[in-house]
Amino acid sequence: MGIEFRDVTKKYPDGTIAVDGLSLTVEDGTITVLVGPSGCGKTTSLRMINRMVEPTSGTILLDGKDVRDSDAALLRRGIGYVIQHAGLFPHRTVLSNVATVPLLSGWDRRKARTRAAELLEIVGLPAELGARYPAQLSGGQQQRVGVARALAADSPVLLMDEPFSAVDPVVREGLQDELLRLQSQLGKTIVFVTHDIDEAVRLGDKVAVLRVGGRLAQYGTPSEVLRHPVDDFVSGFVGRDRGYRGLSFVSAAEVPIDKVPTVRVGSVPDAVDEGQWRLAVNEVGEPRGWLPPSSTVDGELRESDLVAGGSLHHQGNPIRGALDAALSSPAGLGVVVDEAGRAIGVMTARQVLDVIENHPQSVGGS
Ligand code: ADP
Repeated sequence: MGIEFRDVTKKYPDGTIAVDGLSLTVEDGTITVLVGPSGCGKTTSLRMINRMVEPTSGTILLDGKDVRDSDAALLRRGIGYVIQHAGLFPHRTVLSNVATVPLLSGWDRRKARTRAAELLEIVGLPAELGARYPAQLSGGQQQRVGVARALAADSPVLLMDEPFSAVDPVVREGLQDELLRLQSQLGKTIVFVTHDIDEAVRLGDKVAVLRVGGRLAQYGTPSEVLRHPVDDFVSGFVGRDRGYRGLSFVSAAEVPIDKVPTVRVGSVPDAVDEGQWRLAVNEVGEPRGWLPPSSTVDGELRESDLVAGGSLHHQGNPIRGALDAALSSPAGLGVVVDEAGRAIGVMTARQVLDVIENHPQSVGGS
């Protein structure tokens, strides 16, 4: 279900022009990110889609139909909406929060609760959390509940307003990965608001950069916006390290994965090949650290014998993670793990850089 803004302007009663002549097409089944500094009209633009805010002029079409022709309350209930801090009802359990929209839509209690439990599972929350109250969850868990509740609307359209901004960076990355995984299964039309350009290029199929005064500065794929900012405002906003950011959407599939000698924690290591780092793994094959060349181990290998490892590259993730892994590894070898977190091999920074430099979408130079 596509969304089209046609020359949309919003002037608030106090005279503030929040959105100025916005024309933009959000394609069906894609994630479009509205990004820009605080006060540039992102939230206002988003809320005009579900008529929480009415435009002063211009038209918004949802699936080709003017949103003004729909009943505002029905429209709102039929469109998933996720906000910062999740906006959960504090005095209702998690399960009942998620079941709210199906109940409002006339589902019977049992069916609504069954659906709510399924949705908790879909967003990666254990079923027992359903009985808790929002304050008893971590920030990241609350955001997952917010996403589950928005999915409960069972709508092809999802509006997300800075949904991950209040959680710490590590949790935020997890939530972003989760959203991309969900989207690959659900194929919703998602409009996502953030002030964080990294988040925008990570999540967006398309990125709309807005400037203060509510004007669209640039609309394109993350690669276009990073490689060819149209003016100083956009290049300033995407920042100087945009080449590195651009790696978020280059695949690491072409980087060869090499074998690496491994040694099991708790076992007695073989005699060492001179000059070789060995990757220490636990009993299920998860990396635990590195055993430096020619180190002497007295009996069984313990974790205290190891040098801490760098970050891990999850197979299938963008090349930025592969480069991080290679550069942060004490052995100079980035560890690649499979879905279950088991080590499957290593790559050097040189191998990663070769792929980046030869990639047609490479974002080096100007
Ligand atoms: P963003 O989401 O990009 O931070 P907003 O859409 O929230 O931007 O706000 C855009 C501009 O409109 C800002 O200058 C803001 O102060 C103003 N604004 C937002 N809501 C109202 C309102 N209800 N009344 C008056 N001005 C508003």
